[in-house]
Amino acid sequence: MDNHGHIVNNVAEVRGRIAAAAARAGRNPDDITLVAVTKTRTPEEMAAAVEAGCVDLGENRVQEYLEKREKTQHLAENSQKFQKNLNIRWHLIGHLQRNKVKYIADGVSLIHSVDSFRLAEEIETRAAALERRIEVLLQLNPAGETQKSGVAPQEAEALALEIAGSLPHVAVTGLMAVVPIAEDPEEVRGLFREVRALYDALRERHTNVPDGALPEFRRLSMGMTHDFEVAVEEGATIVRVGTGIFGARV
Ligand SMILES: *Cc1c(COP(=O)(O)O)cnc(C)c1O
Repeated sequence: MDNHGHIVNNVAEVRGRIAAAAARAGRNPDDITLVAVTKTRTPEEMAAAVEAGCVDLGENRVQEYLEKREKTQHLAENSQKFQKNLNIRWHLIGHLQRNKVKYIADGVSLIHSVDSFRLAEEIETRAAALERRIEVLLQLNPAGETQKSGVAPQEAEALALEIAGSLPHVAVTGLMAVVPIAEDPEEVRGLFREVRALYDALRERHTNVPDGALPEFRRLSMGMTHDFEVAVEEGATIVRVGTGIFGARV
């Protein structure tokens, strides 16, 4: 099988595993969005994923995202199959510097990596200028890893409320977490569970109440290739899968 065929097969396999994990947890698989993480991949590889139905694409670096977006425009002009799926939603999943926000503000669908009020303020400025609202997730660092960005779980509620209370063009729609890579994904189940408990608590206090401060809070982005099934069992509504779709990054 060629690379294109492998990618199409892998997308189906990952979707099957998401559905099975959802079933184990009594969840509807339609409530889980698969983001295909396309960092380092070629436009042809991306096209294979899009043709297999992955219209949510994730990039972790702004420069690469901008290049990819331009290349997919070109692909769209040359591929009918691709055109059918042209409603691509771009997810920025990596650390975002404030001076880069201006480059992504018009095209991004969801920023997963907001971890400070100052970053949110910059998003507000750029979104307001474009007369759009930008949806964001607050990135958590649940294991307290010093080399990783993200807010400590105990700071998330205050940050969410501060943004919701003062930045009308920034919509806080949920939480995102990156957990340590463990040989056995069972080792991170406890962390996923903690993130889920925080998510539920915020929804209970600020979403599922009249005039709640976080009316759009409904997304939980967690789980990557090595642990997405555990993440789905623990309540993820978005999983971010690269290697499992495209093979090992070289
Ligand atoms: C690269 C990346 C992923 C995907 O990782 P895989 O192990 O290849 O599935 C998910 N989330 C973030 C934030 C990433 O940077």
